[in-house]
Amino acid sequence: MLTHFICSDNQRIKCSDCLSECRMKQRCAPYMFLFKASQDRKPILDRLPSVTEILSPFRYTYLKQKYDYAEMPKEMIFKIHGSAAHYFLEDEEGAVEHIATELSLTDKKEKFKGTIDCYDFTRGGVISDYKFLGKYKIGTYLEDFNKNALDYKRQINGYRILLEDNDYSVSGAELNCFCRDFRGYEHKQEVANQGKVYKTGNKAGQPYPKPVEPFYCFPVELYDRNEFREFFYQRIEMLMHYLREDIMPPVCEDRWGDKKCKGYCPPNEYCDYYVEKYGEEKQ
Ligand code: SF4
Repeated sequence: MLTHFICSDNQRIKCSDCLSECRMKQRCAPYMFLFKASQDRKPILDRLPSVTEILSPFRYTYLKQKYDYAEMPKEMIFKIHGSAAHYFLEDEEGAVEHIATELSLTDKKEKFKGTIDCYDFTRGGVISDYKFLGKYKIGTYLEDFNKNALDYKRQINGYRILLEDNDYSVSGAELNCFCRDFRGYEHKQEVANQGKVYKTGNKAGQPYPKPVEPFYCFPVELYDRNEFREFFYQRIEMLMHYLREDIMPPVCEDRWGDKKCKGYCPPNEYCDYYVEKYGEEKQ
């Protein structure tokens, strides 16, 4: 669980100590941001897992659950952007009749829970999920959504189980992506062209297509209902098995060429794969 923050000088501090008194000259983020960022959910073994936790790599979820880990507040900034934007798009008053937002549901077997961003009762029932992403990620979707958005496609199909178990019909689904930095692409491109390494691109070394709009809507394929249910419930069983029996799951398969291990896996110091390969690089 998240128990510590990493200050800007790379020293760790317990979240509660940080909130009591900052050890630096000045707080690295507003107090309320730090307070919200320090709030973690209950352990999975004391509640039902979420769709995202079920679909995340087992080892990643296991390490986050089993160990006390630390994060740098500045690295958590996009969480607040995402939460704030979801809040903005919520219809708290129920003003729009044909739309339900932030629909929290449990499946019939009571094995998992999830909150659906938006469900449209018209068009036979359409699930809509919102993502707030950087231009590179959206560029990969513009290049090949089906291939590059597997995680989100599965997530939405997980929501479909919840909806159908609760008597909502589902005839379609879509991923609504908001591009948080669609302007400024040209500048980066110029920098890239001046000889600096262009960091992202497809396997052929070409940059991904450029998002030119702040908003993209990608239709999401609905999987074979029974096959996906089997896959999904098997994952729940496996995740709970690893957690209950305290067994370290296998190394994650999708590591984005180890970029995830190095930059996007806060508990990586407890992962032998990371420690053996990159342990000495860690500050
Ligand atoms: S360090 Fe890499 S392999 Fe290990 S849990 Fe994190 S993402 Fe998975």
